[in-house]
This record gives sequence, structure tokens and C-alpha cells, in this order.
Amino acid sequence: MLSPEHARIRSFEVVPALPDALAPLIDIANNIWWSWQPQAVDLFKRLDSELWESTGHNPVKLLGTVQQTKLDAAVNDPEFLHAINTVKQDLERDNARTPWHIQSGHELPEGSTVAYFCAEFGMAECFNIYSGGLGCLAGDHLKSASELGIPLIALGLLYRHGYFQQYLSADGWQQETTPDLDFANLPVEQVKTADGQQVTVHVDLPGRSVAVGLWKSTVGRIPLYLLDTNLEANRPDDRAITGQLYGGDMETRIKQEIVLGIGGVRALEAIGIRPDVCHMNEGHSAFLALERIRRLIEDHDLTFDEARAQAAASHVFTTHTPVPAGIDRFPSDMVKTYLQSFAPSLRLDMEGVLALGRDDVSNKNEPFSMATLAIRTSDACNGVSKLHGVVSRDMWQAVWPHVPHEEVPITHVTNGVHARTWLCDELLGLLNTQLGDHWRDHPADHGIWDAIHRVSDEDLWKMHQNQRRSLMAWVRTTLTRQLADRGVSLPKIKECVDGLSDDALTIGFARRFATYKRGNLILRDAERLKRILMHADRPVQILIAGKAHPADGGGKDLIRQLVHFGLESEAGHKVVFIENYDMHVARHLVQGCDIWLNTPKRGMEASGTSGMKAAINGVLNCSILDGWWDEAFESEVGWAIGRRENYPSQDIADDIESNSLYELLEHQIGPLFYERDEQGLPREWIARMKQCIAKLAPFFNTNRMVQQYAEELYFPALVRAHTLKQDDLSPARDLAHQTTRLRHAWSKLAVTDVSAETDSPLGVSEPRPLSVEVDLAGLSPEEVRVQVYIGELDNDGRVAQGHATNLGHHESLGDGKHRYTGQLTAQGSGRHGFAIRILPGGELFEPLTIPGLIHWETYAPKPKAEPAKAVAAAK
Ligand SMILES: *Cc1c(COP(=O)(O)O)cnc(C)c1O
Repeated sequence: MLSPEHARIRSFEVVPALPDALAPLIDIANNIWWSWQPQAVDLFKRLDSELWESTGHNPVKLLGTVQQTKLDAAVNDPEFLHAINTVKQDLERDNARTPWHIQSGHELPEGSTVAYFCAEFGMAECFNIYSGGLGCLAGDHLKSASELGIPLIALGLLYRHGYFQQYLSADGWQQETTPDLDFANLPVEQVKTADGQQVTVHVDLPGRSVAVGLWKSTVGRIPLYLLDTNLEANRPDDRAITGQLYGGDMETRIKQEIVLGIGGVRALEAIGIRPDVCHMNEGHSAFLALERIRRLIEDHDLTFDEARAQAAASHVFTTHTPVPAGIDRFPSDMVKTYLQSFAPSLRLDMEGVLALGRDDVSNKNEPFSMATLAIRTSDACNGVSKLHGVVSRDMWQAVWPHVPHEEVPITHVTNGVHARTWLCDELLGLLNTQLGDHWRDHPADHGIWDAIHRVSDEDLWKMHQNQRRSLMAWVRTTLTRQLADRGVSLPKIKECVDGLSDDALTIGFARRFATYKRGNLILRDAERLKRILMHADRPVQILIAGKAHPADGGGKDLIRQLVHFGLESEAGHKVVFIENYDMHVARHLVQGCDIWLNTPKRGMEASGTSGMKAAINGVLNCSILDGWWDEAFESEVGWAIGRRENYPSQDIADDIESNSLYELLEHQIGPLFYERDEQGLPREWIARMKQCIAKLAPFFNTNRMVQQYAEELYFPALVRAHTLKQDDLSPARDLAHQTTRLRHAWSKLAVTDVSAETDSPLGVSEPRPLSVEVDLAGLSPEEVRVQVYIGELDNDGRVAQGHATNLGHHESLGDGKHRYTGQLTAQGSGRHGFAIRILPGGELFEPLTIPGLIHWETYAPKPKAEPAKAVAAAK
């Protein structure tokens, strides 16, 4: 091997030499659009199906390595040439479609752009720059944004080694390898300046400046820009910054996040893009907020608060984890090292910067949380399922002291999956026959999925049987190779493979092996599991896949336990572990299993999306009521393990929930699956498959999700950011000044008198007059809102799920005092409580909940009893 230390190596590029007639294939291969177009995938398979497999479904590499004889054959096949042109036209037609927001009458300011930042993107299995759920969601987001025509661009990192590949040792212990990604053979290209050089920007790290190169991928009509520090100009450790996704130590992580956030904003600017709204998909990219604030300060000579007000209006932050370990928290000293030189350009001292990453700004011991930074610099925040919204409001309540839980300004947009990416071709075919291909443009339309009821039971079951059979064929091949690599003997391999059935009830369990996901719950009673698997009339088999984070010994041990069950139990051959879970493995599993199992500790799964992928294929979910399933479950569409209980200990929860899972398998799932009529059809099961598709597919897909992001978060942010920046940002400046003014007055606010007629019981909805006297400490009535907050009282005297109503300003009483009046009404019967509070008022403030700016009337301080000792001493 010749290395650059020995000789100067000059590089050049080689492109496929395709005959002109095949040239459109290059355009198709370079737009990741192909990944959700079965006809496009077919072209590549037709060209060379073996090469398609051996390149890991990578059309760019395929075109670069396909043999001349195959090309010659293709050129002489008129039907093939016709197919190529049809697909190319489809691509052009899809990209030219009138955007959904224009069709639906949303008016956006001219040239509006939303930039979507994420640390990983999972779009196609050949492009390994994702690790799991977050990446797949981001990939699906881009695909739906392309279908909808949302003015969105995306930004991420181009990892030289991507995410690690998993294989197992003979003992079932996870091993990791990190192959190089070959960028030249991937659907990604350098972004170049007019003189042909790669566009590069710089970020500062302690004592040096690091060059960051810009690349671009195309997902339908959405550009995805990717950053890379592996440039000659950088020293070796800096070249490695974008080496591995979620690899390295905390220090690597902060460097990656500086590149992503700060480098990302600079890279976009270098190619003339100044996004109007930035969406931080998870906290990894939150440094982008600091860079955007810095730019505002520099361009408009603002204070930090003024610039923050403007920037936050244009930021959307989505949190994806309720697990504290899932959030990046950097020690203060590390943040000081890395942001010391940046702080002055924010017109903040280091303490001011650190406070942005703390839940409790005064607690100097708190590490710097990227999620908290994102929250403090984004006016719009959301979780990713209804339940996760509740959990997130709890988790970050401390950021908004004294704001009632349900008013903590974190909403939710439930995740989805990109239907055409995850739906199996055969079901797609069935839907197309029922509907033409019209449905593909409206996957979020309920009426469309109802058409599944028009598919006959026979056809649907046949489709599903085919899926299971092709899954099992793939499992046998894959397993044979993997077991051989693990050193298992041939007879033993044959035994394993022969033990699998094409027709048995097949359970899929594939997810990241983190301990909270309880991958081993099913092993809790191994004997009982054995009886279920080996049932004479109702056999069951389980397919398992998933990676543990390389540093997570607990997660790796779960994998080992499952593999050991496979090695040791009599029923072991019915529990199979497939290595290296990725989009390819996922697609096989979610399309061909009968049951999709999920057993997290409740409250720990933000959403989960693999279950949605299964559901749109008619694979029934059996899961703890957590994440999306808490929202989606109905008895006609699947099964729930437990009923949202909380248990005194994890051990008890594991006992009860594993028991509940066994019960379901023994008494409901097994019997229903094996109950066949004269035609051999499980009618009830098929009915559930149809309900599952009809009810879940229209909602849990990313077209619905992206529309919701657009309508509820992006578009309002576009409008608000646009408003705040009028007249050289004068509204943003006002907002900041007014906030300061309010903060000064706030501690002096007081509710001095409240009178309401509550001595006799109120009727439901019967109004009673309410009169409140407040001391506004010099603020004018226009600057505040005085509200009554009312709701049912629980046994601890707390108001649960209260709601607030503004009181009207009635008169000024002089001396800073004012009377407000309104009505007290309750919507239901029972014990109620109310409280009076003051919030900032005015149009700019009403959409916001500003930490610290909420004043509640409190109980009058009790007269302090004189301490006995002091009294004694005085005598
Ligand atoms: C869909 C998917 C995930 C996320 O699924 P969860 O249900 O959130 O675990 C993870 N990894 C891969 C490869 C996927 O395709």
C-alpha cells in the first residue's frame, strides 16, 4: 500500500462510462428518490441483480462497476430503454408537482426556506449515515417533504465511517467494525465554487480553525447538505471529527456538534442560503442557535437578548428522548474550553453562555444540556407522541418555574413513517389495483386507506403469506452465512435453518438494545416461553435484531442472553438473532412478520416507529402502552401489554408484564392466528389486519406528520420571525426591552384583593362575578394579562388540568393599583379551585411562555412565631 507519507498522491474522479441511451440511469441513481420507487429499483435489479445485492442496494456503485456485456444487453433492449425513460419522467413529474401548501392556500412570505438539522439521516440502506430511529425519521421527513413540496432543505454530517456494523462472537457478544464509506460511490457529491473547488467554511476550536467541506445529496426535490472535516488542511484529530456517528468520547461529540450547528449555518450561508426557520431535530444541532444569534448581533448591532428574541422566533426544537442518558450534557469546563472565544461575539460572559444550557440557571453545578440550550433558544418545542408530550412537559418543567404542567410550552407532533418506503411492493400493488395510483399522493387521507376493505380476504392473506415466506427465505440465507461466520458447524446450522417454518406464527422484535427497552422480557419465564414456542398445534417463532451502543455493556448483555437462549434451550432454534439491524433488515421484518413486539419500560419510549412500519403492512402490534402505541391502540388493531399501570418496583413490573405477554400469546394471539375456516383463512386475523391498515396508516405516516409540522410549527414561525424583523428588527428589540422592563417590575407585582361569591355552591356553567385588585408596580394594564386559572381540585388540593381566562380591566385605583373583573364558571361539577395570576400582555407576548414571568397570588405569609431561644435570651 502506498501512503501519502511516502509519495504525493494526486486524486481524480472516474465516472461510469454509460452509453448515452442509459444516461438517465445516472440521474436516477443520484437522486435518493429511487429508494421509494419500486419501478426505479427494478431498473437496477434488471441491469444486474447480483450486483444490486453485492453492492448493498447501491445504484451509484452498481453503475460504476457493472460489466460492459450487461450494458450492451441493456442498450439493445427497447423495453428496458422505455422503462428507463418512464422512470425518469416520473422523477421529473414528481419534482414538478404543485406544492401541497400552495394547493391548500397557505401563503408564505416569498422565498421562505426551512432548514432541518439532524445528526443522522436514514434514507437508504447503502448510505450508512444513520444509527436508528432518529435517522430513519429524518430520512422519512425529507421524503415526505419532497412529496409535499415543502420549501425545506436539510443539513447533517457526512461520516467517513458511518455507524458501526454489528456481528456476534460465538458466545453472542456484540463485535463492531467500522468500514469506510466510499463517498465516490454514493449518491452524494461535493458542492463546488465557480472555480471548481469544494465549498469550505471554518469553525474555531481551541487554538485553531478547522476547515469543513460541503457535500450534497438529493432526496426528490429536497437538497441535503452534509459536512465533512476530513480535509487535508486539517490536522489528523480534526479530520476524524466527522469520522463516526455517535462514536468517540464526549469531546468528540462536542466537536461534532460545533461542526453541525455552527459549521452548518456557515455552510448554508456560503452557498447563499439564509434559512428563515431552523428546525433542530434533537439537541445535537443546538449550537446553530448561538451562531444565528451571533450573526444577528453582528449584522444589526443588537444585544444578546434582542438577537435571541429574533432567533428564537424562527427556531423549532423537537426532543426525541425521555431518557436523561439520551441527552447530550457537557461538563461546564468543556463548554468553557470550546466556547470561550465564541462568547464575546454573543455579548455574553461565559456564565451567561453556560446558563443557556441549564434547567436551573442559578445552579452552577448543572452540566450544559444541549436540549436545554435548544429549548431556551426556540419559541416552539415539541415531543414526538402524545404521551411523550406529557413526559417532556414534566421533564422540563423546571425551565418554567410555577407554570402548570399542562401549560409548559412543549407540544407534540406524533411521529410517522414514509408509507412508500416501508410498504411492501405486493400490498402497494393491491392498493394500486383498488385505487389507481392516486392514493400515493394523499397517504394522509383516511378515505384512501379504507380501500383496504375492498381487498378480498383471500388476496390480503395470500399477499401476507408471500411476505412471510419471502422473509423466511431471506432469514435462512442470512442466518446460514452469519452462523458460519460465527464458527457454527454445518450440521448445527442446518438444524437451525430447518427448524424455521414458513407458516408458523412469526414474531418480530427489532430495536436498539438499550436496557430500558427490555429486550429480554420475553425470557423472564424460559419454561413458559418454551411451551409457547413448541406448542404442538400453534407453534411460534421469534426473529430478533438490533444493535447495542458500543459503550453499553448492559445492552450487549441483553443480546447475549437472547443468543444463549437460542444455543441452550430445546426451543432455541425458534429464537433467531439476525445481525446488523439496518433499514434493509428492518424492511424484511416489518413486512413479513405476523406480530410486532415491543416491551419498553413505560414512559421511556418517546414514540417508536418500527411498529408503524409494521402496522401499515398489516403486521399487528403487541406492545406496552408507550410512545405511539399508547395513542394508537384499540382492541381491533392489535394488543396491549398491561393497562398503563405504575408498579412499585421494576422487578414487579417485569413479572406482571411478562406474564401479561405470555397470556396474550397463549390465549389470544396464538388461537386467533391459527383459527382457520374451510378455505384455510384466519378470518378474524385478516379482519384485524384490515382494521390496522385502515385506522393506523392514514395517521402514522410522515406526510401527515410533515403537514402538521408545517401548519403548527414552521409556518407560524415563518410569519412570526418575519414580523419581528420588520423595520430593522424593531419588534424584536421591543420584545427584548419589554422583557427586561417586566423582569424589573415583576417581583413587586401583587394581588391585593380577590372577591368572588363562592359561599353558596355554583351550578355547572353558572357564572359568578369575580373582582380582583392588583398592584402592577408601575406597569400599565396593557403590559400584562390578569387571569383566573380554574379547574377541578384533587385530594391534595391541587388544580388538575386547569384553564385560564383573561379578566377585564375595570378601573384604575391610583397608586399603581387596578381593579379587574370577570366571571367564575366551572364546566363540570365537584370541588373546584381557582387562582389569580399575572402574565405579560400584548400581541408579541401572548404566544410565549417566558421563564420567570408568571406571578401567582400566594397565601399571605403566616406571622412568624418568635424563636423560643431568642425570646429566652431577651429576658
Ligand atoms: C424504524 C427503524 C428504527 C426505529 O424503530 P423503533 O421502533 O423506534 O425502535 C431503528 N432502526 C432501524 C434500522 C429502523 O428501520
